[in-house]
Amino acid sequence: MKNLSPNEWENNEQTERNRVEPSTLYLVATPIGNLSDITYRAVKVLSEVDFIAAEDTRNTPKLLSRYEIKKPLVSYYEHNKRERGEYIASRLEAGESCALVTDAGTPAISDPGEDLVVLCRERNIKVVSIPGACAAITALTLSGLPTRRFCFEGFLTTVRGQRKQRLRELSRETRTLVIYEAPHKLKLTLEDLYEAFGDRRVALCRELTKLNEEARLMTLSEAVAYYSENQPRGEFVLVIEGAEEEAPVGADLPVAEHVQKYIDAGMTKMDAIKAAARDRGVPKSEVYAEINK
Ligand code: SAM
Repeated sequence: MKNLSPNEWENNEQTERNRVEPSTLYLVATPIGNLSDITYRAVKVLSEVDFIAAEDTRNTPKLLSRYEIKKPLVSYYEHNKRERGEYIASRLEAGESCALVTDAGTPAISDPGEDLVVLCRERNIKVVSIPGACAAITALTLSGLPTRRFCFEGFLTTVRGQRKQRLRELSRETRTLVIYEAPHKLKLTLEDLYEAFGDRRVALCRELTKLNEEARLMTLSEAVAYYSENQPRGEFVLVIEGAEEEAPVGADLPVAEHVQKYIDAGMTKMDAIKAAARDRGVPKSEVYAEINK
Protein backbone atom coordinates (compact mmCIF):
# COMPACT_ATOMS: atom_id res chain seq x y z
CA MET A 1 0.00 0.00 0.00
CA LYS A 2 1.24 3.49 -0.88
CA ASN A 3 2.36 5.66 2.04
CA LEU A 4 -0.13 8.48 2.53
CA SER A 5 0.66 11.92 3.90
CA PRO A 6 -1.68 13.05 6.72
CA ASN A 7 -3.69 15.17 4.25
CA GLU A 8 -4.01 12.39 1.71
CA TRP A 9 -5.00 10.07 4.48
CA GLU A 10 -7.73 12.42 5.60
CA ASN A 11 -9.13 12.57 2.07
CA ASN A 12 -8.82 8.87 1.43
CA GLU A 13 -12.12 7.07 1.11
CA GLN A 14 -10.91 4.41 3.53
CA THR A 15 -11.29 6.97 6.28
CA GLU A 16 -15.09 7.16 5.66
CA ARG A 17 -15.63 4.94 8.67
CA ASN A 18 -13.46 7.28 10.74
CA ARG A 19 -15.98 10.12 10.54
CA VAL A 20 -16.67 11.66 13.92
CA GLU A 21 -20.16 10.76 15.06
CA PRO A 22 -22.56 12.81 17.18
CA SER A 23 -23.25 11.88 20.82
CA THR A 24 -19.92 10.06 21.10
CA LEU A 25 -17.07 10.34 23.58
CA TYR A 26 -13.66 9.80 21.95
CA LEU A 27 -10.79 8.80 24.23
CA VAL A 28 -7.83 10.23 22.37
CA ALA A 29 -4.34 9.02 23.30
CA THR A 30 -1.81 11.86 23.23
CA PRO A 31 2.02 11.87 23.39
CA ILE A 32 3.80 11.09 26.68
CA GLY A 33 6.66 13.44 25.82
CA ASN A 34 7.54 13.51 22.14
CA LEU A 35 4.85 15.59 20.42
CA SER A 36 5.17 13.55 17.22
CA ASP A 37 3.78 10.46 18.95
CA ILE A 38 0.18 10.93 17.87
CA THR A 39 -1.80 9.10 15.22
CA TYR A 40 -3.37 10.56 12.06
CA ARG A 41 -6.69 9.39 13.37
CA ALA A 42 -6.21 11.16 16.72
CA VAL A 43 -5.42 14.45 14.93
CA LYS A 44 -8.47 14.01 12.72
CA VAL A 45 -10.80 13.31 15.65
CA LEU A 46 -9.43 16.26 17.66
CA SER A 47 -10.01 18.50 14.61
CA GLU A 48 -13.58 17.35 14.05
CA VAL A 49 -15.23 16.97 17.47
CA ASP A 50 -17.45 19.73 18.85
CA PHE A 51 -15.31 20.19 21.95
CA ILE A 52 -12.33 18.78 23.79
CA ALA A 53 -12.29 17.84 27.48
CA ALA A 54 -8.73 18.22 28.80
CA GLU A 55 -7.14 17.25 32.10
CA ASP A 56 -4.56 20.01 31.78
CA THR A 57 -5.87 23.04 29.94
CA ARG A 58 -2.40 24.68 30.02
CA ASN A 59 -0.62 21.74 28.43
CA THR A 60 -3.15 20.60 25.83
CA PRO A 61 -3.10 23.91 23.82
CA LYS A 62 0.61 23.26 23.04
CA LEU A 63 -0.30 19.98 21.40
CA LEU A 64 -3.30 21.46 19.63
CA SER A 65 -1.34 24.40 18.24
CA ARG A 66 1.38 22.03 16.96
CA TYR A 67 -1.33 20.38 14.81
CA GLU A 68 -3.18 23.65 14.10
CA ILE A 69 -6.31 22.50 15.88
CA LYS A 70 -8.66 25.14 17.26
CA LYS A 71 -11.48 23.74 19.38
CA PRO A 72 -13.30 24.85 22.52
CA LEU A 73 -11.73 23.28 25.63
CA VAL A 74 -13.41 22.34 28.88
CA SER A 75 -11.37 21.25 31.88
CA TYR A 76 -11.89 17.78 33.31
CA TYR A 77 -9.60 16.69 36.13
CA GLU A 78 -9.51 14.84 39.43
CA HIS A 79 -11.07 17.60 41.53
CA ASN A 80 -13.92 18.61 39.21
CA LYS A 81 -14.59 15.23 37.58
CA ARG A 82 -17.96 14.66 39.25
CA GLU A 83 -19.66 17.90 38.35
CA ARG A 84 -17.80 18.26 35.03
CA GLY A 85 -18.51 14.66 34.08
CA GLU A 86 -22.25 15.35 34.38
CA TYR A 87 -21.87 18.46 32.24
CA ILE A 88 -19.92 16.63 29.52
CA ALA A 89 -22.40 13.72 29.53
CA SER A 90 -25.35 16.08 29.14
CA ARG A 91 -23.71 17.78 26.13
CA LEU A 92 -23.05 14.35 24.61
CA GLU A 93 -26.70 13.37 25.19
CA ALA A 94 -27.75 16.59 23.44
CA GLY A 95 -25.91 15.41 20.30
CA GLU A 96 -22.41 16.89 20.55
CA SER A 97 -19.19 14.91 20.15
CA CYS A 98 -16.33 15.22 22.62
CA ALA A 99 -12.68 14.15 22.64
CA LEU A 100 -11.18 13.45 26.06
CA VAL A 101 -7.44 14.01 26.38
CA THR A 102 -5.65 13.54 29.67
CA ASP A 103 -2.32 14.89 30.80
CA ALA A 104 -0.40 12.43 28.65
CA GLY A 105 -0.91 9.02 27.13
CA THR A 106 -4.06 6.94 27.02
CA PRO A 107 -7.10 8.37 28.83
CA ALA A 108 -8.55 6.12 31.56
CA ILE A 109 -5.19 4.55 32.44
CA SER A 110 -4.44 5.83 35.97
CA ASP A 111 -6.25 9.10 35.35
CA PRO A 112 -9.79 10.49 35.79
CA GLY A 113 -10.77 9.39 32.27
CA GLU A 114 -11.81 6.12 33.90
CA ASP A 115 -14.71 7.84 35.71
CA LEU A 116 -15.97 9.59 32.58
CA VAL A 117 -16.06 6.29 30.70
CA VAL A 118 -18.04 4.66 33.53
CA LEU A 119 -20.50 7.56 33.53
CA CYS A 120 -20.96 7.49 29.74
CA ARG A 121 -21.48 3.74 29.66
CA GLU A 122 -24.05 3.99 32.48
CA ARG A 123 -25.90 6.54 30.36
CA ASN A 124 -25.60 4.48 27.15
CA ILE A 125 -23.40 7.12 25.54
CA LYS A 126 -21.13 5.66 22.87
CA VAL A 127 -17.42 5.58 23.76
CA VAL A 128 -14.71 5.11 21.14
CA SER A 129 -11.04 4.67 22.05
CA ILE A 130 -8.39 6.08 19.69
CA PRO A 131 -5.28 4.10 20.66
CA GLY A 132 -1.79 5.52 20.99
CA ALA A 133 0.97 6.18 23.52
CA CYS A 134 0.79 4.70 27.00
CA ALA A 135 3.69 5.02 29.47
CA ALA A 136 3.12 1.54 30.94
CA ILE A 137 3.36 -0.24 27.59
CA THR A 138 6.26 1.90 26.39
CA ALA A 139 8.24 1.03 29.54
CA LEU A 140 7.33 -2.65 29.48
CA THR A 141 8.44 -3.10 25.89
CA LEU A 142 11.92 -1.69 26.45
CA SER A 143 12.47 -3.06 29.97
CA GLY A 144 14.26 -6.25 28.94
CA LEU A 145 12.00 -8.19 31.34
CA PRO A 146 9.44 -10.81 30.23
CA THR A 147 6.55 -9.15 28.38
CA ARG A 148 4.45 -12.21 27.56
CA ARG A 149 2.45 -11.97 30.78
CA PHE A 150 2.34 -8.83 32.90
CA CYS A 151 0.13 -7.02 35.38
CA PHE A 152 -0.39 -3.31 35.86
CA GLU A 153 -0.75 -1.85 39.33
CA GLY A 154 -0.90 1.88 38.43
CA PHE A 155 0.04 4.10 41.38
CA LEU A 156 0.54 2.37 44.71
CA THR A 157 -1.29 3.92 47.64
CA THR A 158 0.73 6.53 49.53
CA VAL A 159 -0.52 5.19 52.89
CA ARG A 160 2.61 3.27 53.85
CA GLY A 161 1.00 0.47 55.88
CA GLN A 162 -1.53 -0.23 53.12
CA ARG A 163 1.19 -0.07 50.50
CA LYS A 164 3.35 -2.60 52.32
CA GLN A 165 0.32 -4.88 52.68
CA ARG A 166 -0.44 -4.59 48.95
CA LEU A 167 3.18 -5.37 48.09
CA ARG A 168 3.11 -8.44 50.34
CA GLU A 169 0.02 -9.60 48.44
CA LEU A 170 1.88 -9.05 45.17
CA SER A 171 5.09 -10.73 46.31
CA ARG A 172 4.10 -14.16 44.90
CA GLU A 173 2.84 -12.69 41.60
CA THR A 174 4.78 -14.40 38.83
CA ARG A 175 3.90 -11.95 36.05
CA THR A 176 6.06 -8.90 35.33
CA LEU A 177 4.67 -6.00 37.36
CA VAL A 178 4.32 -2.45 36.05
CA ILE A 179 3.79 0.52 38.37
CA TYR A 180 3.76 4.31 38.02
CA GLU A 181 5.66 6.49 40.46
CA ALA A 182 6.31 10.18 41.08
CA PRO A 183 9.99 11.16 41.56
CA HIS A 184 9.58 12.42 45.15
CA LYS A 185 8.13 9.07 46.26
CA LEU A 186 10.54 6.85 44.37
CA LYS A 187 13.13 6.17 47.10
CA LEU A 188 10.58 5.00 49.65
CA THR A 189 8.78 2.88 47.08
CA LEU A 190 12.03 1.16 46.07
CA GLU A 191 12.78 0.41 49.73
CA ASP A 192 9.31 -1.08 50.21
CA LEU A 193 9.63 -3.10 47.00
CA TYR A 194 13.01 -4.48 48.13
CA GLU A 195 11.60 -5.43 51.51
CA ALA A 196 8.54 -7.16 50.02
CA PHE A 197 10.07 -8.78 46.91
CA GLY A 198 13.73 -9.36 47.77
CA ASP A 199 16.48 -8.63 45.29
CA ARG A 200 14.65 -8.91 41.97
CA ARG A 201 15.46 -7.07 38.79
CA VAL A 202 13.74 -3.77 38.11
CA ALA A 203 13.77 -1.53 35.04
CA LEU A 204 13.59 2.12 36.04
CA CYS A 205 12.14 3.83 32.98
CA ARG A 206 12.11 7.60 33.13
CA GLU A 207 11.37 10.52 30.84
CA LEU A 208 10.17 8.13 28.15
CA THR A 209 10.18 9.53 24.60
CA LYS A 210 11.85 12.71 25.93
CA LEU A 211 15.39 14.03 25.48
CA ASN A 212 16.69 12.41 28.67
CA GLU A 213 14.91 9.07 28.26
CA GLU A 214 16.47 6.31 30.34
CA ALA A 215 15.66 2.68 31.13
CA ARG A 216 18.12 1.30 33.70
CA LEU A 217 17.89 -2.40 34.45
CA MET A 218 19.32 -3.25 37.88
CA THR A 219 18.40 -5.15 41.02
CA LEU A 220 16.17 -3.61 43.67
CA SER A 221 19.07 -3.35 46.15
CA GLU A 222 21.19 -1.57 43.50
CA ALA A 223 18.26 0.76 42.77
CA VAL A 224 17.85 1.59 46.49
CA ALA A 225 21.59 2.31 46.72
CA TYR A 226 21.65 4.33 43.48
CA TYR A 227 18.78 6.59 44.48
CA SER A 228 20.11 7.15 47.97
CA GLU A 229 23.07 8.83 46.20
CA ASN A 230 21.22 10.39 43.25
CA GLN A 231 18.13 12.57 43.27
CA PRO A 232 15.32 11.01 41.17
CA ARG A 233 14.12 13.39 38.44
CA GLY A 234 11.29 13.16 35.93
CA GLU A 235 8.42 10.74 35.60
CA PHE A 236 8.99 7.06 36.27
CA VAL A 237 7.56 3.72 35.33
CA LEU A 238 8.93 0.77 37.29
CA VAL A 239 8.89 -2.62 35.62
CA ILE A 240 9.63 -5.37 38.13
CA GLU A 241 10.50 -8.99 37.51
CA GLY A 242 7.80 -11.44 38.66
CA ALA A 243 8.31 -14.03 41.43
CA GLU A 244 9.79 -17.40 40.53
CA GLU A 245 7.17 -19.94 39.47
CA GLU A 246 8.00 -22.64 42.00
CA ALA A 247 6.68 -22.48 45.56
CA PRO A 248 9.17 -20.81 47.92
CA VAL A 249 11.32 -23.23 49.89
CA GLY A 250 9.90 -23.79 53.34
CA ALA A 251 6.60 -21.89 52.99
CA ASP A 252 4.76 -25.12 53.85
CA LEU A 253 6.83 -25.68 57.04
CA PRO A 254 5.98 -24.47 60.56
CA VAL A 255 7.25 -20.87 60.93
CA ALA A 256 10.20 -21.66 63.25
CA GLU A 257 11.51 -24.39 60.92
CA HIS A 258 11.10 -22.11 57.95
CA VAL A 259 13.21 -19.38 59.61
CA GLN A 260 15.77 -21.96 60.76
CA LYS A 261 16.20 -23.15 57.16
CA TYR A 262 17.41 -19.71 56.17
CA ILE A 263 19.66 -19.42 59.26
CA ASP A 264 21.20 -22.79 58.40
CA ALA A 265 21.85 -21.46 54.92
CA GLY A 266 23.95 -18.65 56.43
CA MET A 267 21.52 -15.78 56.98
CA THR A 268 21.34 -13.64 60.11
CA LYS A 269 18.23 -14.20 62.23
CA MET A 270 16.68 -10.86 61.10
CA ASP A 271 17.29 -11.57 57.41
CA ALA A 272 15.91 -15.09 57.85
CA ILE A 273 12.74 -13.64 59.43
CA LYS A 274 12.38 -11.18 56.55
CA ALA A 275 12.88 -13.91 53.95
CA ALA A 276 10.38 -16.25 55.62
CA ALA A 277 7.84 -13.42 55.92
CA ARG A 278 8.24 -12.70 52.21
CA ASP A 279 7.76 -16.36 51.26
CA ARG A 280 4.63 -16.56 53.40
CA GLY A 281 3.23 -13.19 52.25
CA VAL A 282 2.89 -11.94 55.85
CA PRO A 283 4.45 -9.02 57.79
CA LYS A 284 7.86 -9.78 59.35
CA SER A 285 6.42 -8.76 62.75
CA GLU A 286 4.06 -11.75 62.48
CA VAL A 287 6.94 -14.18 61.90
CA TYR A 288 8.95 -12.54 64.66
CA ALA A 289 6.04 -12.83 67.13
CA GLU A 290 5.46 -16.46 66.16
CA ILE A 291 9.04 -17.60 66.77
CA ASN A 292 9.31 -15.67 70.03
CA LYS A 293 6.10 -17.09 71.56
N1 SAM B 1 -2.71 7.84 31.11
C1 SAM B 1 -1.27 7.86 31.16
C2 SAM B 1 -0.69 6.74 30.30
O1 SAM B 1 -1.36 6.25 29.40
O2 SAM B 1 0.44 6.36 30.49
C3 SAM B 1 -0.75 7.80 32.57
C4 SAM B 1 -1.24 8.92 33.45
S1 SAM B 1 -0.60 8.90 35.05
C5 SAM B 1 -1.54 10.21 35.75
C6 SAM B 1 0.97 9.65 34.91
C7 SAM B 1 2.12 8.69 35.20
O3 SAM B 1 2.49 8.01 34.00
C8 SAM B 1 3.39 9.38 35.66
O4 SAM B 1 3.39 9.61 37.05
C9 SAM B 1 4.46 8.37 35.28
O5 SAM B 1 4.52 7.32 36.23
C10 SAM B 1 3.87 7.81 33.97
N2 SAM B 1 4.40 8.57 32.83
C11 SAM B 1 3.74 9.41 32.01
N3 SAM B 1 4.57 9.90 31.06
C12 SAM B 1 5.78 9.34 31.29
C13 SAM B 1 7.06 9.43 30.65
N4 SAM B 1 7.24 10.21 29.58
N5 SAM B 1 8.08 8.70 31.15
C14 SAM B 1 7.91 7.90 32.23
N6 SAM B 1 6.73 7.79 32.86
C15 SAM B 1 5.68 8.48 32.41
